[in-house]
Amino acid sequence: EAKNAGRNHYQFYRKDFTAAIQDRLNMEINLRNAIAKNELQLYFQPQYRAKDRVLCGAEVLIRWFHQVDGQIKMVPPNHFIPVAEESGLIVDIGRWILRTACKQLKTWQQEGIPLPQVSVNISARQFSDPDFLEMVENALGDSELAPEHLELEITESMLVGDIKRIELQLKRLKKMGIHLALDDFGTGYSSLSYLKNFPIDVLKIDQSFIREMTNDSRDANIVRAIIEMGHSLGQKIIAEGVETEKQLGYLVGRECDIIQGYFFSPPLPGHKMTDLLCSERKNIGKPKQKSLIN
Ligand code: C2E
Ligand code: MG
Ligand code: MG
Ligand code: MG
Repeated sequence: EAKNAGRNHYQFYRKDFTAAIQDRLNMEINLRNAIAKNELQLYFQPQYRAKDRVLCGAEVLIRWFHQVDGQIKMVPPNHFIPVAEESGLIVDIGRWILRTACKQLKTWQQEGIPLPQVSVNISARQFSDPDFLEMVENALGDSELAPEHLELEITESMLVGDIKRIELQLKRLKKMGIHLALDDFGTGYSSLSYLKNFPIDVLKIDQSFIREMTNDSRDANIVRAIIEMGHSLGQKIIAEGVETEKQLGYLVGRECDIIQGYFFSPPLPGHKMTDLLCSERKNIGKPKQKSLIN
């Protein structure tokens, strides 16, 4: 009996397993055509300066609107980015994302919208691609976007391994004038010592801490500690996943620099972002420089 149960179990398992592999294979095949079929779209989530709620940038988040039998199905990035990573397709997709993001910001600027920057997520496979730097240079060069308007988001998991090579690559990006942000900060396995050597401009506090911050004092303390540590190293702090006034209040009180989350806005498709930027035109930009004369 036990043997039978075991066998059935195995067969169920094998069936699920085969189906899962098939799904993954199908996704890879479909993803291969997604760019050519215009199924990928950039969404933009506005970022606001905490102290005065001035719109100071936007994170680019990819969406895949996959068409099957006349139906459109939105596949979230958490589903397809890992497949794109493992198959290597992320190199082509990531190039397209970066180029499109740079062109979009340049277009906004040419239309008189002074959005200071876009922030683009970079995956590990892209970052370790030997042509990565050249790819970034070309995206900037072809769009004629000035590098200080571009921020790249990397994660702690990309900062382990060949430290010397990573440090060199980050320094080259910095030298180009690009800003570097560390995404999902506090969830990785790498050591804090890299913060000393790597030229990171911005820490993005992971949203898991923000979510519990107003219920759990331990999360609140972690958030406060990250802000203080980052500031003492000369970094700016972004809180992501901010959904409530209460969370915003805590972060403003702790002098967090930038706020991103549903409290202000979900990620928006390009045309909606354009509408928002036009309606907020007077509330966009860099901090007002303190006058030297006054
Ligand atoms: P991430 O870079 O940490 O992006 C933040 C995620 O939080 C986004 O999910 C965003 O839509 C979501 N979010 C923003 N505000 C809130 C909020 O107030 N509450 C909650 N609960 N969530 C919020 P999304 O767009 O589904 O992206 C998930 C992840 O997929 C991203 O995490 C990033 O790791 C990856 N990803 C997205 N776009 C790209 C891309 O263009 N390239 C690469 N390599 N990865 C991407
Ligand atoms: Mg991100
Ligand atoms: Mg994040
Ligand atoms: Mg994330």
